[in-house]
Amino acid sequence: MDKQTQDHISALDRASVLHPFTQLKDFASGKAGDPTIIETAKGIRITDATGREYIDGFAGLYCMNVGYGRTEVADAISRQAHKLAYYHSYAAHTTEDLARLSDRLVRMAPGKMSKVFYGMSGSDANETQAKLVWYYNNLRGLPKKKKIISRERGYHGCSVIAGSMTGMSFYHDYMDLPVSGILQAGVPHHYWGAQPGETEEQFSARRAEELEALILREDPDTIGAFIAEPVLGTGGITPPPAGYWAAIQPILRKYDVLLIADEVITGFGRTGAMFGCDLYGIEPDLITVAKGLTSAYVPLSAAIVGEKVYKVLEDGADRVGAFSHGYTYSGHPLGVAAANAVLDIVEREDIPGNARRVGSYFQQRLKETFAGLPIVGEVRGVGLMAAIEFVAAPATKTRFNPLLKVGARVSKAARDLNLIARAMPHGDILGFAPPLVTTTAEIDEIVDLSHKAVLSVMQELKA
Ligand SMILES: *Cc1c(COP(=O)(O)O)cnc(C)c1O
Repeated sequence: MDKQTQDHISALDRASVLHPFTQLKDFASGKAGDPTIIETAKGIRITDATGREYIDGFAGLYCMNVGYGRTEVADAISRQAHKLAYYHSYAAHTTEDLARLSDRLVRMAPGKMSKVFYGMSGSDANETQAKLVWYYNNLRGLPKKKKIISRERGYHGCSVIAGSMTGMSFYHDYMDLPVSGILQAGVPHHYWGAQPGETEEQFSARRAEELEALILREDPDTIGAFIAEPVLGTGGITPPPAGYWAAIQPILRKYDVLLIADEVITGFGRTGAMFGCDLYGIEPDLITVAKGLTSAYVPLSAAIVGEKVYKVLEDGADRVGAFSHGYTYSGHPLGVAAANAVLDIVEREDIPGNARRVGSYFQQRLKETFAGLPIVGEVRGVGLMAAIEFVAAPATKTRFNPLLKVGARVSKAARDLNLIARAMPHGDILGFAPPLVTTTAEIDEIVDLSHKAVLSVMQELKA
């Protein structure tokens, strides 16, 4: 794109786009610079309008799992658009591919799943999950059993209920969230949460005891569900401490609390297993998937409903009539076409296997390169999701002054070297979630560029 066109597009954008997570005034005034105009992408690399190429070390927003520019996915979407761009799935209408995708998801998914309800985003799928929990307990004659427990630093989206379940205050402030009926359990983050000398297992047991105490304090008859990501994502890319899921699940069963596994990031291979639930022995009642379902080629999400919940819904139908929840675009044919094409790739290329093999190389290289640097507190991750957490003094776990913006500076330094790695909230954290087709040679590039970025910020901090 020539310079004149770039300037024109930037001006139009500034004048008319309300960007998510952008400081509005600095953007509008030009103080924050021009928007980055992304034009093309292939594999793990994206190119902007100036012709500059970046490695996308975050797969967009942890979603471009099979890599950019997959012709077979684009062709499947195009074929579907020509054949049947749209029909709804209300009142028992369907398409061949919708039925096939749903059967496939029920068979792939962990736990005893029964049915699939479709949306367009992770947020709307979690909104559906909350309504399913309420509906389920109304049909069971337990109208008080409605509260949902999420976790501090959990991320479940930003719509009204999903945003309330998100355990990050900046998603709530000035937006009148959280709504009532959403409770918060402690974050399973051993590095920051453990008491001195507490092992991972002891810490997990304590989190489970705290969860039980919360349920008892609130009254178990009022607790409908617990929602959690198998691996904490936006809250800091933090795998669960050892024994966490084994300790949590019996508490939920004991008090008849449904478990919603939010697999929006972890689903379809990111951890090295097909689902995070498979890796950690989680048996969910409801599963949320989105990002990896179509690798973001078309927006599509799903609330996968387990047999236990579905049975109650079906048994109640004579009493309550039709299931009155649905979106115009539930089961949209283009999303379904993209999902089937992407899942063909996931299975044929053993994408979880690549994430496991390349992921273990990635984790090892990150540890070798960064653990022990004087500003690194923790290097953590699983499969192809990882984070480096920076602290002022590792020995005492002393954080940097937030005004130094160390995390953001490292992310900026990486970007100056044409690597996208994300500064995460809740501390000085550099996050990685590259596409699941990344090779070990590309991992070497990512680690080497990150190392240069970290060293340059260390120099600045010294000066
Ligand atoms: C991204 C994300 C969501 C929300 O998905 P959107 O498509 O952005 O609405 C929900 N849960 C998790 C774990 C996510 O990472």
